[in-house]
Amino acid sequence: MSLDNRIELASLPTPLEPMQQLSEKLGGPQLWLKRDDLTGLALGGNKTRKLEYILFDAIEQGADCIITAGAIQSNHCRQTAAAAAKLGLECHLVLGGEAPEKCNGNLLLDTLLGAHIHWAGENRKGEGIPALIAELKAQGKTPYMVPYGGSNLLGALGYANAVLELVKQSETRFTHVVFASASGGTHAGILAGARLVGLDSQILGIRIDKADTPELLFADKVLNLANEAAEALALEPFNAKDVLLNEDYLGGGYAVIGDAERQAIDLLAKTEGILVDPVYTGRAMAGLLDLIQKGYFSADDKVLFWHTGGAPALFAYANEL
Ligand SMILES: *Cc1c(COP(=O)(O)O)cnc(C)c1O
Repeated sequence: MSLDNRIELASLPTPLEPMQQLSEKLGGPQLWLKRDDLTGLALGGNKTRKLEYILFDAIEQGADCIITAGAIQSNHCRQTAAAAAKLGLECHLVLGGEAPEKCNGNLLLDTLLGAHIHWAGENRKGEGIPALIAELKAQGKTPYMVPYGGSNLLGALGYANAVLELVKQSETRFTHVVFASASGGTHAGILAGARLVGLDSQILGIRIDKADTPELLFADKVLNLANEAAEALALEPFNAKDVLLNEDYLGGGYAVIGDAERQAIDLLAKTEGILVDPVYTGRAMAGLLDLIQKGYFSADDKVLFWHTGGAPALFAYANEL
């Protein structure tokens, strides 16, 4: 397995920026952003790096249509639709819920990007995909399924590669790398990438979605994926204690915006001109701000917040903002 087995979809490297105003306002730690909200593909986000590896595989396998699943405001589905369009592949999205009266945010972009939308009711994690695959095969097509959130070994390699990019980009020794963790591929990939390059920062995921799949606890999913990536990259395996996952900021549940997310969105916008999103980065940033307040970091710690995107969903939450 090689980190070279990718197709270029993202504009890389993404910028690395200090958050001077916010760091000063809070009295430390020193905060930085890794701007993966600017990966460039149809308004960007972390799924683009994963899709570079996953869709390389899809093309190798001769796929002519791509299927994936997610919530109605899935950033993953929007980036998959864009990548498929760019590569000339048909795209099918299995989305949770029912067709709304008006398309907005990511859903509007999915339709502009030409994706075929299939409504799945309560199933937002791809439960309806096997039936759709059978249907497409019966039509003579060669479908390829991208897993929920792009979180498999290939997706994780996208984030191992991202850590290589980070250490090439800057000599700053970050004491902590903090990010939103939801389907686990970003987290697993950052763990593997950090081990690959010998980055000794604390890798801290802020959990976003409290729903575990019946078979597997989320922390175990991250650990298993990190170990798949470790094996692929010939690294030592990880232990459960390597997976640092803060589960204190799950709020009212997945995609339910609360005061903490609202305040984080507001603070970042007004002090840094940075947009974080209602579902992922707003919640993770709210967690980071709370940890800062509680004295989790020292004033001279250097903390990188990996901005994983999501701002297109802001428009769909207009009434709640
Ligand atoms: C999907 C997503 C995440 C979570 O990444 P995972 O690899 O699924 O854990 C974080 N932020 C945004 C904006 C996302 O769309």
